[in-house]
Amino acid sequence: MYQDVLLHIAGKWRAAHGGRTLGVVNPATEEVIGTLAHAGIPDLDEALESAAAGFAVWRKLSAYERSKIMRKAADLVRERSESIARLMTAEQGKPLAEARMEILGSADVIDWFAEEGRRAYGRVIPARAAGIYQLSLREPVGVVAGFTPWNFPMSQAVRKVSAALAAGCAFILKGPEETPASCAELVRAFVDAGTPAGVVQLVFGVPAEISEYLIPHPVVKKISFTGSTVVGKHLAALAGAHMKRATMELGGHAPAIIFNDADLDAAATILAANKFRNAGQVCVAPTRFIVQNEVYQPFLQKFVAKCEAIKLGNGLEDGTTMGPLANDRRVAAMESLLADAVGKGAKIATGGKRSGNKGYFFEPTVVTDIPLDARVLHEEPFGPLALFMPFGSFDDAIAEANRLPYGLAAYAYTRSATTAAGLGAGIESGMVGINHHGLALPETPFGGMKDSGYGSEGGAEGLEPYLVTKFVTQASV
Ligand code: NAD
Repeated sequence: MYQDVLLHIAGKWRAAHGGRTLGVVNPATEEVIGTLAHAGIPDLDEALESAAAGFAVWRKLSAYERSKIMRKAADLVRERSESIARLMTAEQGKPLAEARMEILGSADVIDWFAEEGRRAYGRVIPARAAGIYQLSLREPVGVVAGFTPWNFPMSQAVRKVSAALAAGCAFILKGPEETPASCAELVRAFVDAGTPAGVVQLVFGVPAEISEYLIPHPVVKKISFTGSTVVGKHLAALAGAHMKRATMELGGHAPAIIFNDADLDAAATILAANKFRNAGQVCVAPTRFIVQNEVYQPFLQKFVAKCEAIKLGNGLEDGTTMGPLANDRRVAAMESLLADAVGKGAKIATGGKRSGNKGYFFEPTVVTDIPLDARVLHEEPFGPLALFMPFGSFDDAIAEANRLPYGLAAYAYTRSATTAAGLGAGIESGMVGINHHGLALPETPFGGMKDSGYGSEGGAEGLEPYLVTKFVTQASV
């Protein structure tokens, strides 16, 4: 069922000019299941030329016409969701149910931006003299280059592409080499829905080679990147050197604070589901479980019981609730972080090791008694590790939550309105979920602060980065 993945350049699905390909590995079986085309500079040059032409056509269509095409793309994604889900699970590992949710959620994102693009209003600013009209106009920024990762092959791409297209921009997407087919199906939906040639193009290859060619190129006016903070800083510097606008959706190390007065059952259920979704490879996954002294032991027990109920397995099999990690680098990262923490005195409450001898499976893991100099309390684990830490006072919890340079998502559980209000004000984080999860909806802003990046990807805020403001003042004569 897995087909070799091609580039989409200048309106055509095709192999790379140089004929280069890479293998795609199923992380549950370690088998090579297909190949993807691997773009070189001549392919990028053609994509850039076509993007410039595509932008000239697309920006001239009315927002209403663009919206109709985008809504059709959303419908195609929904119609094809079952077959795309199988591709996604085969190449990425997540259970089929999670793949379906990601795909249907992606269709909703397209719909949201299709409508929001029709509301990219300007303003008329009252003038100081009669007969003068002062207009603030919103125009598309131009050709955008986007770089998206393997953890959510479709939903990481759809927020960027949909917002850009809704604003009237053309998009060159550098998709994830490890999970290319489901990302390619997103592009296929836009193409089949009738976006003109050059409006959405797809390339894969050596990430650094592609970003270092596209970002400085004069055709590209904006970049958007989702991935690690270290790569994000590098790309943001490159964008800055060439005066390109940039959106950076980077790493996190989310605190989840459990107060004495929390509903412990609800907290354990919701947090375990969100910790181990996508095997923990989620930038907003709860990571540091900061639990008030009096409820530390009972909450730990409830959480460990949730972990032990998880069924690890191939995401294509019924009943699997957690799949493998997406690649062997993640298994090595989990082993190294845990070896460091345990070597410094941490204890494993459950899990803690690779599972089986085929596939990149790693047990849902809870770690306690972690000394503050353990690497895992500083680096984003990006995997199924829940790190438990006790706290005494509200101020101690806030201090721990804000200790790291990351500031993407934070969670808290409390029945006190006063505590909740204090958390909303005190936590340095782009998103705060109190007593429920509820992040990453099409209509709500998604993004970080501090080393987690800048710019919002959802909601009305998500359209902004793809628009430029032009002021026109006109006197009637
Ligand atoms: P990585 O840092 O090598 O790559 C992360 C992503 O950035 C990948 O999609 C990769 O293709 C891309 N990338 C890397 N170098 C690039 C470059 N020079 N130009 C353009 N794109 C580039 O690490 P990895 O092993 O793939 O993932 C591990 C880390 O990445 C995780 O620990 C996590 O912190 C981060 N990550 C974050 C997200 C997220 O949703 N924010 C998603 C995937 C990975």
